[in-house]
Amino acid sequence: MQKPNQRLINQTCIVTGGSSGIGSAVAKAIASEGANVVINYNSSKASAEELAHEISKDKRAGDVITCQADVSQEQDVQRLFKTSKDQFKHIDICVSNAGIQKDSPLHAMRLADWNKVIGVNLTGQFLCARAALNEFMNTGIRKDVSRSAGKIIHMSSVHEVIPWAGHANYAASKGGIAMLMQSICQGYAQYKIRCNSIAPGAIKTPINKEVWQDEAKMKKLLKLIPYDEIGEPSEIGSVASWLASDESEYINGTTIYVDGGMTCYPGFTTNG
Ligand code: NAP
Repeated sequence: MQKPNQRLINQTCIVTGGSSGIGSAVAKAIASEGANVVINYNSSKASAEELAHEISKDKRAGDVITCQADVSQEQDVQRLFKTSKDQFKHIDICVSNAGIQKDSPLHAMRLADWNKVIGVNLTGQFLCARAALNEFMNTGIRKDVSRSAGKIIHMSSVHEVIPWAGHANYAASKGGIAMLMQSICQGYAQYKIRCNSIAPGAIKTPINKEVWQDEAKMKKLLKLIPYDEIGEPSEIGSVASWLASDESEYINGTTIYVDGGMTCYPGFTTNG
C-alpha cells in the first residue's frame, strides 16, 4: 500500500485557481504527496509564484510550474493543458477549483454578473474536464503510477444543495457542477477515469473575508455550522490529495461534503 506522503509520486496535477485560498492548500497537499504541480492563476501572478517557491522547498514535492489562464476561455484552457503536458509529459489529476462570487438579489442581478459567475464556475469546469478527459483517454492507465487512467476533482460547494438567496448565480453554478460531475462519471468510468466533487462549507479564505473579519457576522455564520468552527483550507487539501490517490479508488461520481455538518440542517437541532 502507498504510504501517506508518497501517494502521488510521478503524477502531475493541474490545480486551477491555485494562487489563493483553497486552491493553494490543495496544490501544497498534492505536491507534498510527491506529485508535480501546475499552479494555474488568472490575475494573481505574484501569489502563484510565491506558492511555487514555497512548494519547491518541500523535499517531498515533485516539480512545480505556474501558468496563467482564464478558465472561462476555451483557448486559455487549451494552453494550460498544452503547457502542462509539454513540461511534464503526462497529466494525471485535474483539480478544477477556480471560482468566484458576484452577489446580488436576483431581481437586480446584472446579466454580466450572471454570465461571469457561470462562465468561471461552471463553463470553466466543463472546459477543464473536457481537456482532462481527452488527455486521460489518450494516455490510458499508467500502471506504474495509479490504478485509474485519471482523476478529475471539481471544487463544488455546500451550495450545490443549499439554496442561497442573493447568490443565485453562484448556487446555480455549483448545482450545475453536481450534474456535470455525475454525467462525467456515468460516461467515462468505463475508461477507468474517476470524477468526484468536494463540497466545502465555510472555509477561511479571501472569498469570504468580509464574514470572518467581522465578529458579528462570524457569530451568525457559526450558527449554521454544527461543528462550531470555520474550516481551514488545509482541511480541503487533505481530502483532495486522498481523493486523487488510489486509496479512494472505488469512489466515483460522489460529492464529499467537508462542511462541519452544515448540510445537516442545523436550524432543526431544537425541533425546528
Ligand atoms: P479565493 O481565495 O477567492 O480564490 C479563488 C481562486 O480562483 C483564485 O486563485 C483566483 O485566481 C481563481 N480564479 C478566479 N477567476 C478565475 C479565472 N477566470 N480563471 C482562473 N482562475 C480564476 O476563493 P476560495 O475560497 O479559495 O475558493 C476556491 C473554490 O472553492 C471556489 O470554487 C469556491 O466556490 C469554492 N468554495 C469556497 C468556499 C469557502 O468558504 N471559501 C466554500 C465552498 C466552495 P486569481 O486570484 O489569480 O485571479
